[in-house]
Amino acid sequence: MQKFLVKSDIYFGADAVDWIDSLRKKKAFIVTDEMMVKIKAVDQITDKLEKSGIKYDIFSQVKPDPSYETVALGVKALKEFSPDLVVAIGGGSSIDTAKSILYSLWQISEKAGEKFEKPLFVAVPTTSGTGSEVTSFAIVTIGSSKLALVDDWLIPDVALVDSQFVSSVPPAVTADTGLDVLCHALEAYVSTDASDFTDALSEKAVKLVFDYLPEAYHDGTNKTAREKMHNASCMAGIGFSNASLGLIHSMAHALGGAFHIPHGRANAILMPYVISYNAGNSSVAKKRYSDMAETLGLRAESPEQGCDLLIKGINALKAIMGVPMNISQAGVSREELEARLDEMAENAINDRCTPTNPCQPVMEDIKCLYRRAFE
Ligand SMILES: [Zn+2]
Repeated sequence: MQKFLVKSDIYFGADAVDWIDSLRKKKAFIVTDEMMVKIKAVDQITDKLEKSGIKYDIFSQVKPDPSYETVALGVKALKEFSPDLVVAIGGGSSIDTAKSILYSLWQISEKAGEKFEKPLFVAVPTTSGTGSEVTSFAIVTIGSSKLALVDDWLIPDVALVDSQFVSSVPPAVTADTGLDVLCHALEAYVSTDASDFTDALSEKAVKLVFDYLPEAYHDGTNKTAREKMHNASCMAGIGFSNASLGLIHSMAHALGGAFHIPHGRANAILMPYVISYNAGNSSVAKKRYSDMAETLGLRAESPEQGCDLLIKGINALKAIMGVPMNISQAGVSREELEARLDEMAENAINDRCTPTNPCQPVMEDIKCLYRRAFE
């Protein structure tokens, strides 16, 4: 028996934020970062809250790769403010921080034997990448390693997938986050927990990425491209929240943690190498990649050729957006990689995403893959 869960109410389109007008709440706790405050993205929420007479407090201390320390500060601030509404606005870091704050408070209450009144949790993504607005995942950094919290409890109640929030995302971030979407959809598609339901989302998300990511990268003002990528991110998010991910993410979590490479970029670098490894070790995965290539109109005479065409397609997508093709191009030296190799391989093998990879690697496989992806 398998389960497919879509817990969040999803409002999408360029006016989705207007849903805030319908809220009847008393106090809103906003989780975001300084940049969102500076570019006045947060004002689009707070103006509406003011009109509805809802008091608010802004916690804007979120940084990229949110740390446990930031979460602890947020727990203190939220507890003091005692809101009945939490709005996370930002990229994956802001939404993951809000998830972790709420989760920590719930855990603290459980341990103390107290009932936790969970505020309504609304997520407003400002990048088209993590899909965090609909997923049961949150990534928190502890020291140099990344901890993945996975629990249906973490899924936001409402996702406002409003493309006006992504119109000013710079090209490099559009590329990294867009390739993260592709990675989510492809990993969910070959996951051991994939189903007909998650496949439908993965197939559509991959098609939307290939059709619209180059345009969103070259012309960020293209509203259709932005909206399609925002929808793709959310759809891939629902897919992987149900099917989980695989070794690309496990290795990217470790690589990003060791060398501060943005999450999407780390995935983009590793994606072709891990796909090739999976296809070589699982005939089921090889067929799945080939099926996905066919969905994209890349006709092949054998699963090998289909898989090859998919990898070539991904590399072409990376090339036109100037994304690093290997770890060396991301600014890491061979010595630096070798020095962290054992630790990264161990973190990757123990990562929450590894068990659903279509084949199970040993430490040596992962080290070999990092070396292969170096240059
Ligand atoms: Zn990701």
